[in-house]
Amino acid sequence: MKIQLVQDPTPASTSHPVAERTRYSACPLCEGQSFATLKEVDGSQDPLMGPEVDPSWSWNGCETCGHIFVDGYLQESVLEQVRTRGALVPSSGAEFAAKRQAAAAVVHRISSMRGCIDGVWLDVGFGSGELLCTANEFGYDVVGLDMRESAVLHAPDLGFEAAVAPLEALEGKELYDVISLSNVLDQTVSPLETLKAACRLLRSGGVVFIATPNLDSRAWHQQETSGQNSEWSEIERTQLFSREHLYWAMRRVGLEPCDYMSSPSSPVGMEVCATLASDG
Ligand SMILES: [Zn+2]
Repeated sequence: MKIQLVQDPTPASTSHPVAERTRYSACPLCEGQSFATLKEVDGSQDPLMGPEVDPSWSWNGCETCGHIFVDGYLQESVLEQVRTRGALVPSSGAEFAAKRQAAAAVVHRISSMRGCIDGVWLDVGFGSGELLCTANEFGYDVVGLDMRESAVLHAPDLGFEAAVAPLEALEGKELYDVISLSNVLDQTVSPLETLKAACRLLRSGGVVFIATPNLDSRAWHQQETSGQNSEWSEIERTQLFSREHLYWAMRRVGLEPCDYMSSPSSPVGMEVCATLASDG
């Protein structure tokens, strides 16, 4: 399985004083233009924080649909610098064993849903690669995308092809049987565009898997009450979803949610699977 990228004509910038955020002019889910500042955060404790980023920013609440998103997002050239502080290395030993077990639960669940245990699996934001390695162990052909060059550099050692690119940059359609996005949708500038790309690239009978924090969960509210909720101050995060908002966004692009699970790897996380509405 080859990865074909759309050519990006924008040259990368090289020097970065404290970066301006690009303000949203409309809600990234419903395009409503009325929103209010919901919360101001201090991200100075994020280990990825550096001098090129103002450690204070705000979150907006859309007055039309209630979706929550940052007041402004960082440009890709700034995020490239940020991500150099979070270099990823493949896990080993007990850490790998634990991650393999968690990944196997996801692969098994999705395979049961599809009624088969092979096909092509694309993991977006594959990180240290445990999900793809485990999917491959089950019998899937696997490929990965990640915005961190350090992750992609390790992919050949792990036995799969990978590229530094967002999902939207992939050409073609109906190429993958499973597309997984863990902690991706909450970091994109335009979640609907990411979901549309997933819809375009998914084969009939395929499954899209999304993992992201659920701000409507009891666990989230407990973290809020305790004043210990660091989910707001993650520097790469742009969106925070409730289950309802996530389902609404999925349905808007032609995906039908069909499975929900609390995340074993995040105390406030949800894992949602969806199929093509046209498959129904
Ligand atoms: Zn909205």
